Amino acid sequence: MASHPGKLVVLSGPSGVGKSTIVRKLLRMTGDRMRLSVSATTRPPRPGETDGQEYHFLTHEEFARRRQAGEFLECIEVFGRGQWYGTLLAEVTPSLQKGQWVLLEIDVDGAERVLTAYPAAVSVFVTAAPEKADALRVLRERLESRGTEDATSVARRLEVAEHELDRAPQYQHVVVNEGLDDAIDHIYDLLVEAGLPKE
Ligand code: 5GP
Repeated sequence: MASHPGKLVVLSGPSGVGKSTIVRKLLRMTGDRMRLSVSATTRPPRPGETDGQEYHFLTHEEFARRRQAGEFLECIEVFGRGQWYGTLLAEVTPSLQKGQWVLLEIDVDGAERVLTAYPAAVSVFVTAAPEKADALRVLRERLESRGTEDATSVARRLEVAEHELDRAPQYQHVVVNEGLDDAIDHIYDLLVEAGLPKE
């Protein structure tokens, strides 16, 4: 094991808050110091998604087999719609042992499990506005203008968003994404304060 094992970073936030962009840019800033854990899921790939990049896309049978074999750090059925998501131990443990930091972009329930198992993890919740009602309004506008979801799906995501916003207090840090670059710089600074090696 490296003399300084890496740390886990758990990042959550409601759909439409800009998580994917934040994650992409953060990884560009951290380079080799931090890598993204590629989750496994049973949901089908969206257009443009590639197996092994956005997710490991597994059949329900394969997911269940790997779950029973104890291969997941955490896994969960998200949205109650019969699709599973989970963090594979193989995505996390080898990197931590090498001293690399590992970023998990997971939902609030998965995050709770990870934070219980790894109390030293750094946890960040990204929201769209300081007040919950404003955050929900901004998220609705963003989801509608993104145009990737139909009205039922937007409504369901907002319902989930409300549940997620209620869980923000379980995270060490709450970052308001009112401007993407500022939010990313803020998160980067939090990681350096938590011990992420500087370049
Ligand atoms: P999507 O289907 O839009 O890619 O993701 C839906 C939700 O699943 C997001 O809230 C995302 O954070 C969550 N998610 C993705 N991967 C994992 C995972 O490995 N574990 C858990 N618990 N949630 C995940």
